[in-house]
Amino acid sequence: MLFKSRVELLEITLLRSLNARMNLSEKDVRNYTRLRKGFEGEQKSDQWLEGLSEEWLVIHDLLLEYNNSKFQIDTLLLSQDKIYPLDIKNFEGDYSAEGENWYTSAKKDMKNPVHQQNRCVILFRSLLRDLNCHYPLEPYLIFINPEFHLYITTINPSLVFHSQLNRFLKKLNARSVKLNKRHYKLAEQLVALHIVESPYPHLPAYDYDQLEKGILCSKCFSLFSEIHGSKLTCGHCGCTEEVESAVLRSVTELSLLFPDQKITTKIVLDWCRIVKSEKTIRRILGKHYKLVGHGKSANYVLPND
Ligand SMILES: [Zn+2]
Repeated sequence: MLFKSRVELLEITLLRSLNARMNLSEKDVRNYTRLRKGFEGEQKSDQWLEGLSEEWLVIHDLLLEYNNSKFQIDTLLLSQDKIYPLDIKNFEGDYSAEGENWYTSAKKDMKNPVHQQNRCVILFRSLLRDLNCHYPLEPYLIFINPEFHLYITTINPSLVFHSQLNRFLKKLNARSVKLNKRHYKLAEQLVALHIVESPYPHLPAYDYDQLEKGILCSKCFSLFSEIHGSKLTCGHCGCTEEVESAVLRSVTELSLLFPDQKITTKIVLDWCRIVKSEKTIRRILGKHYKLVGHGKSANYVLPND
């Protein structure tokens, strides 16, 4: 049973939007690419785990803390007598491991993911002990990308490669799992401890004036270039979208990038740029938002705010 699903990190959403609207530094682009690739791998892994029998408890994406040290668990599987923390890696290309050292295809040193996972397991075990839970942990590193190869001289059963995914799942499904109230309680406790970090301190500096205005295509994230009646067309990928849904998407994007910004017809008109009609913007905002305040301080809020 899927107990907690995974959603895209707000940091990825915001970086995607900034990447489309300004020039990110090389470092920020690298960070954005790394996060996006990681998330893609996690999504593939989530799909793969849909093949796990219903009895298992599946918790995706936990950020926990023990003794002021934060640690991430990509996926946690709960069976009746064992807990499986899975670390999902979306590495691509040829890598090698010599002893404790891992190298990328370019022969560059990299962090040994086994060590990273060990750190996480140690912290997690202590946290579980505090919760009075003493099930043994069986951690696995899941290499989800079929284009990944690791040159390795020793066998490490905690590494699961793409060609082993089916057999690994079969092995898990062959186990009989009978969960009771205690397991569900543990799952609830862990999800309650999940930390949601603000993405804003990790983002590059940006301000409103510096960002390119317009509506981003929801498929390829380039700016819409044509408008015909109530339809926008993307000059890059050719897809079309209704003005109304595109404006609403852009207002959400604006609010996420600038949480303190008040939503007014004037600012949305400027932000969306390609839609020139003030009447259209006012109609769309009026339909989906609630107008509060009067005169100059009038602005739109979501009806349930
Ligand atoms: Zn497009």
